[in-house]
Amino acid sequence: QVSVLERHDGPAQEASGNPQGVLYLKLSAHGTALSQMILSGFGYTRRWLEHLQRGHDWDACGVLQLAFDDKEGERQAKLATAFDDSLLRQLDRAQAEATAGVALASGGLFYPEGGWVHPPALCQAQLNHPRIRLLGHANVIALRKADGLWQAWDGERLLASAPLVVLAGAADVRHFPACAGLPLKRIRGQITRLPATLASRELRTVVCADGYVAPPRGDEHTLGASFDFHNEDLAPTVAEHQGNLALLDDISADLATRLRTAELDPAQLQGRAAFRCTSPDYLPIVGPLADVEAFNQAYAMLAKDARQVPDVACPWLEGLYVNSGHGSRGLITAPLSGELIGAWASGEPLPLPRAVAEACHPNRFALRRLIRGK
Ligand SMILES: Cc1cc2nc3c(=O)[nH]c(=O)nc-3n(C[C@H](O)[C@H](O)[C@H](O)COP(=O)(O)OP(=O)(O)OC[C@H]3O[C@@H](n4cnc5c(N)ncnc54)[C@H](O)[C@@H]3O)c2cc1C
Repeated sequence: QVSVLERHDGPAQEASGNPQGVLYLKLSAHGTALSQMILSGFGYTRRWLEHLQRGHDWDACGVLQLAFDDKEGERQAKLATAFDDSLLRQLDRAQAEATAGVALASGGLFYPEGGWVHPPALCQAQLNHPRIRLLGHANVIALRKADGLWQAWDGERLLASAPLVVLAGAADVRHFPACAGLPLKRIRGQITRLPATLASRELRTVVCADGYVAPPRGDEHTLGASFDFHNEDLAPTVAEHQGNLALLDDISADLATRLRTAELDPAQLQGRAAFRCTSPDYLPIVGPLADVEAFNQAYAMLAKDARQVPDVACPWLEGLYVNSGHGSRGLITAPLSGELIGAWASGEPLPLPRAVAEACHPNRFALRRLIRGK
């Protein structure tokens, strides 16, 4: 029996609330933990999406990543030799234009099974289960343990209690002492909604350079997304709409013309802003939580000699887990991370190689701090 405590009246009103997000795979040819996580997460999310309404909730229209400079071209060439053609393939400019349906400045790497997702639809689909209930207007201020159960409190109001809690509140998980030391950073981003035209409807795939633009969902394309490390305000700004239009020019001047962006008044553009939540190594933070002070004491010897393998049980906060730090690719990493939490909690086989699960483990930062002495 699961209760989802959400401070808004419904789900997907923060980072997961954009009209379209892209299944964008930033892979490495070297099989890093992050790359393995992205690959597995992509497969997992794609299988989920098959249950949703294609064209309305998502579309497998493919994603084209442009080779916008020589360095990116070299990176893409390495990826093309490292991965199978069914996942990604290099297209020259003419092939890329034929695939995308608009004129482009270069070729790129095409992911035929990529596409866009309406994130609120994916969230809603994951909530649709007879044993899951959503409690809206439930702002959890504090967690307390009583009689073996975790209690979620909003001031004086007990919202729910359960033996197992997953903190999945993006960067706001830091308000809870168990997560206060996690190095999570908020990065504001803004998307711009562009009305589709007859000519822009020729766009057949998502196209990305520094930004991304998707084929229309209904009558609108989503163009994204700005990065602002300083602004804490979520009101959309004209400057960022202008920045997004500049990203579109870099993606395809032809598409910008088809969308008649030169005639649009940036002050009248519609969009929305939200916070991404990133970790320093770009991997999500997923798994069981330990009592930080007890952890530091238990493994203090590692500060003197990092090669030791102490035979000391980890002081877990029993039943407490975190699922956060999904950065700019939560559509790919968050659903599989939910599955990973389920496996950690129930003792099932992990859905990822152990090394990848460990690379995502919340304790990695406390461990590094101990070993490096800071
Ligand atoms: C502009 C922008 C563009 C993006 N584009 C893409 C993209 O193209 N592809 C992609 O894969 N990803 C993209 N992302 C990233 C993706 O949106 C996120 O990684 C993902 O939404 C994170 O999901 P989350 O559930 O961890 O966080 P959120 O969606 O932010 O959800 C956290 C939830 O927790 C709730 N909450 C927090 N604290 C509490 C509390 N104390 N009590 C009750 N409720 C609480 C919040 O209300 C919220 O509903 C983009 C993000 C932004 C901002």
